[in-house]
Amino acid sequence: MYRSMMLINGKRVGGASGRFDVIHNPANQEPVAEVAIGEVIDAVKALEAAQCAFPGWASVSPKRRCDLLHDAAEIVRERADRIAELLTVEMGKAIRDSRREVLSAADSLDYFAEEGLRNIGDWISTAETRSIVTKQPVGVISLITPWNYPVELLAWKAGPAIAAGCTAVAKPSSLAPVAATEFVMAINDAGLPPGVLNIVHGSGETVGAELVTNPISRKISFTGETSTGRWIMEAAARHLKRVSLELGGHAPMIVFDDADIDAAASACVRRAFGNMGQVCISVNRVYVADEIAEDFTEKVVRRTLGLRIGDPLDPEVDLGPMVSEAQRRKTREHIEDAVQKGANILCGGRAPEGDLFAKGYYFLPTVLADVDHRMRIMREETFGPVAPIMQFSDDEEAVRLANDTEYGLAAYIYTNSLRRAIRTAERLEAGSVGVNVGSIIDHHAPFGGWKQSGIGRELSHRGLDEYMEIKHIRLGL
Ligand code: NAD
Repeated sequence: MYRSMMLINGKRVGGASGRFDVIHNPANQEPVAEVAIGEVIDAVKALEAAQCAFPGWASVSPKRRCDLLHDAAEIVRERADRIAELLTVEMGKAIRDSRREVLSAADSLDYFAEEGLRNIGDWISTAETRSIVTKQPVGVISLITPWNYPVELLAWKAGPAIAAGCTAVAKPSSLAPVAATEFVMAINDAGLPPGVLNIVHGSGETVGAELVTNPISRKISFTGETSTGRWIMEAAARHLKRVSLELGGHAPMIVFDDADIDAAASACVRRAFGNMGQVCISVNRVYVADEIAEDFTEKVVRRTLGLRIGDPLDPEVDLGPMVSEAQRRKTREHIEDAVQKGANILCGGRAPEGDLFAKGYYFLPTVLADVDHRMRIMREETFGPVAPIMQFSDDEEAVRLANDTEYGLAAYIYTNSLRRAIRTAERLEAGSVGVNVGSIIDHHAPFGGWKQSGIGRELSHRGLDEYMEIKHIRLGL
């Protein structure tokens, strides 16, 4: 069985307790890895190592940091098959998607390698003074990540932190720590000085909380649930630490009557069911114009029935199991609540039958019709493979329904009218709006949430700025 250690000060180590946890494959319950369990003391050691490494790393030239990040990206690519396989067996993602995630994580490292070279400040002149405005690394950063994109989301944090000259301690989710740890080992193998990037395992309540509250860390970069983010913000306030919080979402998709219905239906299926709906920017609510509702819904159902669900290691498979029984139960509860309040199940709504599925947390991708906003599925994050479809009669109603949520991470629009696209995109309360596209992720553009979906931005030059302090040096002449 695979053994996943922690990395503290450049050394692969077990936890102070000497204990290991076993990770089981959500597709069949078989044990796949032993993971060293970390305690508070391990978090403290990792923070101290990062603190020690900080002055040296902050003064390394940006070009050297750039070269190391490019080398790290190459090593990640060389090991992509292995890391992707570990990702699939620990959390159930279809292997094609795992591979895409790992390669995209490598691309993030390349992106931030270059962005780190463009650390540009200001020079301001007055008659008797000159002002230099410069950016410097924040210090030691705690990087806390969830289980649904354990590698890619860590890359979005570790890449800019390293490029900016910060040092860091990463803590992946206890549900899926293995691939993230391999990713950190790969970066480290590029030749990072010891202590620049550390990784510890353990529960959020102990190890995670120490990374948040220990005064050594100057900033917390967190991705996870809104409730956890709220606690982190409160705890970080005691030391006025900086926070970046990437939290929950409840993305609407609006399909107008002038949309390309085939393109919209195919994006809807991909965005609602990819990674079994366990994505913060999944389509959670679909609003379709009355005039095209029947046609669109029929196309969504047909495409959904065509998805291949099975062993996630099979490269032909579109969807594997969900990560845990708890996640599957929540999905069932949301569907039951909707049906009780009048929704109709057009397909799915249950686990698939057959020996292959008997021991895994499988669930059929589900399309619901006749839904409304009294239902939990239209208000709470399901994090499961469900596309609830609701009709609207005019643009005003579509925007009002889409914004009727406490979340504001992503939104999607399908229309062939430029005027409608821009007017609607500007009125939607979300950090990212996709128009006639099924993905809003682009390394060059900022990603983050409005409302209860978070604070701060990742990716782009703004994602790098989150790891920098601004300094004004005023020179009297
Ligand atoms: P979670 O909040 O339960 O856990 C996330 C991480 O925080 C884990 O590593 C966990 O151990 C740690 N943690 C838990 N309690 C902590 C505490 N008190 N102090 C410090 N760390 C603590 O989230 P999850 O279930 O792993 O992930 C799913 C959630 O993540 C969903 O809500 C999803 O929308 C969100 N998410 C958001 C984005 C985004 O970019 N906005 C991306 C992916 C996932």
